[in-house]
Amino acid sequence: MVSQTLNEIYQLLFERLGPQHWWPGDTQFEIIIGAILTQNTNWTNVEKAIANLKAADWLSPDKLYHLEITRLAELIRPAGYFNIKAKRLKSFLGWLFENYDGRLSNLESLDTFRLRDELLAIKGVGRETADSILLYAFDRPIFVVDAYTARVAVRHSLIEPGADYEQLRELFQLNLPEDVQLFNEYHALLVKVGKEFCRPKARCPGCPLEKLPHNLDAEYF
Ligand code: SF4
Repeated sequence: MVSQTLNEIYQLLFERLGPQHWWPGDTQFEIIIGAILTQNTNWTNVEKAIANLKAADWLSPDKLYHLEITRLAELIRPAGYFNIKAKRLKSFLGWLFENYDGRLSNLESLDTFRLRDELLAIKGVGRETADSILLYAFDRPIFVVDAYTARVAVRHSLIEPGADYEQLRELFQLNLPEDVQLFNEYHALLVKVGKEFCRPKARCPGCPLEKLPHNLDAEYF
C-alpha cells in the first residue's frame, strides 16, 4: 500500500514536472562542494560561490586543501555563513587527505553505510549533506530527505508528523526499488513540488498530487 502510493506520487510528479537533471555539477568534487555549501542557502548563491572557485582555478581537492581558510571563506562568501562553511569544507578535505590520500577514487571501494558513517563523523556534515553526497556524487542508493520530503509525506499520510530523518529516509528507501536514478529523480521532484505547491501554506489546487488523498491538518511545520 505504501509502496503503491509512493510509486503513484512519483509517476504523477514525473509526468507533470519532468526530469529535474540533478545534481548540477561538472565533477564529483564539485557536487560534494555544492552539497556542503547549499546548507541554509539557495542554489543561486551556491552557484556564485562555485563560480568564484572555478574562476580562481581552485576547484580541486588538492588546491582547496592547501588554500588558506580566510581566502577560501572570501571566495565562497556568496553562499552565506562563509566562515562556517569554509571550516566545513576544510574539515571534509582534512578527512579526505588524512585518511584517503586526498583521492575521491579511494572512497569508491567503501561500503555505502561505512562511507555514510565516516561522512557523518566530519564536523558540519549532517544527514542531508552526507546523503546528498552519497546519492549524487557517488551514485549510492540512499534516499535524501529534507523539509519538502517531510511535508509531502506527512500531508499524504505516509508517516506520522514528527517523524525523524531516518524514519523518513527508510520510508522511501525501504518501500521503493533500490534504484539510484529513481532516488535521484524522486528527491529532486519532491523539492520542486515542495517549492511550488507544498509550501508551509499548501497550494493544493493545481498541484500534481491534488487528486491523491491529503490531510492538511497533519501539519509537519
Ligand atoms: S500541495 Fe497539497 S496536493 Fe500538493 S503535495 Fe502538498 S498536500 Fe499534496
